[in-house]
Amino acid sequence: VQRRCAILTIGYELLQGRVVDTNSAYIAKKLYVLGHQVVVKMSVGDDKEHIIKALRTCIKVFNCDTVITTGGLGPTPDDITLECIAQFLNLPLEINEEALRDIERKYRERGLELNPSRVKMAKIPKGATPLLNRVGIAPGIWLEASYSGKRITIIALPGVPREMMTMFEDHVEPRLRIPGRHLIEASIVLKPCRESDIADILKEFSKRYREIYVKTHPHGHEVSSPSINLYMSLYSDNPSQGIELCREAKAFLLNSIKTRFPNISIELVKDCSISK
Ligand code: ATP
Ligand code: MG
Repeated sequence: VQRRCAILTIGYELLQGRVVDTNSAYIAKKLYVLGHQVVVKMSVGDDKEHIIKALRTCIKVFNCDTVITTGGLGPTPDDITLECIAQFLNLPLEINEEALRDIERKYRERGLELNPSRVKMAKIPKGATPLLNRVGIAPGIWLEASYSGKRITIIALPGVPREMMTMFEDHVEPRLRIPGRHLIEASIVLKPCRESDIADILKEFSKRYREIYVKTHPHGHEVSSPSINLYMSLYSDNPSQGIELCREAKAFLLNSIKTRFPNISIELVKDCSISK
């Protein structure tokens, strides 16, 4: 079923304007494409009282059933997100063995031992499932709990955008998929092509096809032989309609690219089709 979601980004750097909050934009787009409703986005500093107040506001005032947080999962004392979630729900923090083993292995591979601040990252609210981080170290969590008699889900992800995005795609997106909605994907290689060449075209594409998620992965050599892998996906209740929309969008995109850059060659890796 469709969730009522809140996105809560945590960190003083966001409030000070030192870092632009790209995490919430990414998550908002993902949730939109998945078919969920985002009711509120909020940012707070690394402040226990404010984080707890924000969680309460999302759930009680905005009546959200799902809150996705980013930031504050690291080893340092200012990383307090999990502590705040635990306190908000009146749950103890416990060392999770799976998370601890994963963290220990990552440090050991770098010739380092565990210490209390490294062990801290394995302390998660009781009952939460750790979401392992294959890009960085700190795991996130998926927590289902009850708050004032209401079932809620709190998902905590790291602040570093690359880690956050990888974990969202690895662990969160599959669990947030709405049964009966089909995932339709296409993948294309463009060569020679830099992300900066087609940025405008992608911007226009996203405006026109709001329900389609699009992303690019640069490959090859940026200067001598740049190429990019372009991926697009959408969810649809109706597979044939979804595939048709995907094809239309793909044709629009490829036509725009061919018109502006006749030299770019286009290789279709995966045509618009349903993925499991
Ligand atoms: P780490 O494990 O690296 O400490 P963390 O989960 O504790 O990560 P933070 O320390 O809050 O996350 O943030 C790490 C970095 O990620 C920040 O320095 C900032 O550059 C970036 N970052 C944090 N939040 C956001 C955001 N909402 N949007 C974009 N970048 C962000
Ligand atoms: Mg940190």
